[in-house]
Amino acid sequence: MEKTDTPITKTDDEWRAELTPEQYEVLRRAGTERPFTGPYVDEKTPGTYRCAGCGAELFTSATKFDSGTGWPSFTEPAVAQAVELRTDRSHGMARTEVVCRRCGGHLGHVFEDGPGSGGQRYCINGCALELDSGA
Ligand code: FE
Repeated sequence: MEKTDTPITKTDDEWRAELTPEQYEVLRRAGTERPFTGPYVDEKTPGTYRCAGCGAELFTSATKFDSGTGWPSFTEPAVAQAVELRTDRSHGMARTEVVCRRCGGHLGHVFEDGPGSGGQRYCINGCALELDSGA
């Protein structure tokens, strides 16, 4: 298995070539897929959600919940160190951006209205994820 703590650095052209247009827009341009249009919104299959950019383990199905927002939502990352949180003041809002620590890809945002004991809701673009069901 490839080590997933090795930082990935690629040129913009390389990312553009290997990602789908939707993935590129989200992961490398911090875009947001329209709600209910991306994959995994209603996904219930057990497994690990990896970064679509680099394969790093980010979230698990065990912490996924139905938020009703139209984006896959989790109460916490699989490994805290796998994601980096950054203050995002774009679009006239103060939000906390969630970034893949390994490749720097934008994943989504985390909000403080989650249902678990930690009270967090990781609101993640489905196209930034790839479900590894182990099958
Ligand atoms: Fe990544």
